[in-house]
Amino acid sequence: MSRSKGKRLTLARGVRFSCMQCGDCCRSFPISLSPSEAERYEERDWTKILGENHPPVVNYVRRGGGTLRYLARAANGWCLFLGEDQLCEIHRHHGEPDKPLACRLFPFGLADGPEVDGTVVLGRFACSAVAHGEGETIQSHRKELDELVREFHEVQPPRVASGPPRLPFSQGLDYGPDEVGLVLDLVAGELENASRPFPERILAISKFLSLVATSRFKTINTGSAKKAIHGFAEGIHAQVGRGLLKTPAFAPLPQRLLFRQLLAMAARRDSARLVVAGPLRLLARRIGNLLAGLAFMAGTGVVRCVGREKPAVLGEVRRKGPPANPADPAADGALTRYFLNNLTGRFLFAGSFQLEQVLPSLGLLLRQYPLICLLARAACVARGGEEVGRDDWVSAIRTADWNFGHVPWTRGPFGGLRGRLLADVEVPLAFLAECTGIEPEPAPEQAQAAS
Ligand code: SF4
Repeated sequence: MSRSKGKRLTLARGVRFSCMQCGDCCRSFPISLSPSEAERYEERDWTKILGENHPPVVNYVRRGGGTLRYLARAANGWCLFLGEDQLCEIHRHHGEPDKPLACRLFPFGLADGPEVDGTVVLGRFACSAVAHGEGETIQSHRKELDELVREFHEVQPPRVASGPPRLPFSQGLDYGPDEVGLVLDLVAGELENASRPFPERILAISKFLSLVATSRFKTINTGSAKKAIHGFAEGIHAQVGRGLLKTPAFAPLPQRLLFRQLLAMAARRDSARLVVAGPLRLLARRIGNLLAGLAFMAGTGVVRCVGREKPAVLGEVRRKGPPANPADPAADGALTRYFLNNLTGRFLFAGSFQLEQVLPSLGLLLRQYPLICLLARAACVARGGEEVGRDDWVSAIRTADWNFGHVPWTRGPFGGLRGRLLADVEVPLAFLAECTGIEPEPAPEQAQAAS
């Protein structure tokens, strides 16, 4: 295991990346700077690259009592340093090591691992190459990642453990990181088992997690409890294989409202310039989000898919969009990459994910599954296609990755209620038929009655 300033480096599974030099990240993401980077860029003479009278190269934003620094954007919203040939002018003139750390790190993301002395590196699926699953494995990037993580921790010192780590699995059930690790390893093992289609694997995962949560084992990493947890995983795997477990068909109203809220989140796309927006612009954006949320709750709204010029109207996607089959090999590949990365990347449990419990985190992730199916249909409709194809699935996982993880779901006045709703890890599958446009197979007794 590599060491980075005393922190163990764990790499998420299933991530591949080689830069395709598409420039999409430079057009789309805000680039945050460390104080020393901001100072270095401020002091440099950029006239050769940017011309006389160029705007300031660093934007300062006051938030939460502190100051944040971002590389400036051009009038079109792209990074100021993105050249006409879609290549980086800082790289061209000063070499790669002089680029901001945020650019050199992308498309990898860092999260504190469940172990207090661990850092996890995962892939950001907003990147086209990562979403396509093309290029070199994340393991082959280990050496450079070691260096980058070391540099990152020089700017942002790692958390110092103040006591044994606490990872509440669900309300009233605390597991240590190794116990959560055991559950996640079994979940990831099921996900990687390509012997049967993705929908069956995810069904087994949701049933298994639900069983662990209701088992009320106070500890699960020793003796008979550990054996029982392994037994749960094997039993559920076998039962799903024999068709004995079915997806739930009904979601109660609070769950449906929460799902619409999630859809509104998944469907929006903030411009990179929003991070430096003033209070009025931010307020307008919040009101816009609220209205969009209400529109989605009413069953309408506009979906903006990554990689699509035109938006798609939700009502039209539902009525006329071609079905999205998650068992299709193209869908299976995209969905497996996305979920495996998010599960093994442990990003779900990082402070930045804004969730304080493991089960609601997993519930939020599982709710992305039907949403991704709907987004794939929207991506197809937005390009005027007649069949959902590989590129639509890639667009859907890029769209989902873009927008999740920035809302304090389990905090605030409604946080407790949302946390309880999210902790239901089976109910997301009840939205599958509605999102895929594929009617579920009738239960054997219904089929008999019909014939
Ligand atoms: S600094 Fe260079 S690599 Fe970073 S966003 Fe700008 S153009 Fe892209």
